[in-house]
Amino acid sequence: PAPTNPGKTFEYRIMPYGEAHLLLIARDITRVSQLEEMRKDFVANVSHELRTPLTVLHGYLELLPADEQENPFQAKAINEMAAQTQRMQNLVEDLLVLSRIEASSERIYENIVDMPAMFRQMEAEAQALNKDKHHTITFHIDNALKVFGVETELRSACSNLVFNAVHYTPAGGQIDVYWKADNEGARFMVVDNGDGIAQNHLARLTERFYRVDKARSRKTGGSGLGLSIVKHVLTHHNSRLEIASTVGQGSEFSFLLSQELIAGT
Ligand code: ADP
Repeated sequence: PAPTNPGKTFEYRIMPYGEAHLLLIARDITRVSQLEEMRKDFVANVSHELRTPLTVLHGYLELLPADEQENPFQAKAINEMAAQTQRMQNLVEDLLVLSRIEASSERIYENIVDMPAMFRQMEAEAQALNKDKHHTITFHIDNALKVFGVETELRSACSNLVFNAVHYTPAGGQIDVYWKADNEGARFMVVDNGDGIAQNHLARLTERFYRVDKARSRKTGGSGLGLSIVKHVLTHHNSRLEIASTVGQGSEFSFLLSQELIAGT
């Protein structure tokens, strides 16, 4: 058993030492984990405090008359300010979601998530988002496959992956969403035939605020936090995000929930 020391946090490593011994290395990471906790609290608090002023700003901007005929400059300024405050609101909401997931102690085995019902809703939302893109979006869903997990988190992870495919695939693309059981567990997968992502970006894609093409991503209104949220949700569900992508051909984002999480098929 690892030695205990109240109020201290240690990281342990065990290594072979000579022929017949093991070496236990304990590193005191108390300070590092305290700083990490402070960072999380700070981000959560700032995001929470920014929410109200942004809602007020955006609300008033929506009410201001933006008549292009009467005053084109004013109309342009108001519309641009409304769009930018909307972006800030999205960012703050995503930061709050991320903070909530990082702090989540919700047990994953306590609730059954009706994933097929969730996908039916998501399909309607994806089609609404698809208005100007004219993709062919097809959901291939195993209608009986339910899992243990945290519903809000799984919804957030899956919708981020589906909506990313809609955003980052040039108009008229093909997007397929799969939810099915195989002999390892339940697999969720989104396949698009968009521009794909170069190999050198893949490892960093789930970092906070990491974007492949900053200018283009900004236009889509994303916060750069989507895949970071996905990563945290999946860690909480003992899974991880798998990405396969070929430039010019498309991307495949998927994850596997293990057999123990399957609640019904
Ligand atoms: P964002 O808010 O910018 O969408 P994400 O964390 O969701 O942030 O995604 C990070 C970056 O990964 C995006 O900015 C985009 O460059 C890239 N990306 C995500 N999904 C896809 C996809 N399906 N096809 C191509 N690029 C993608």
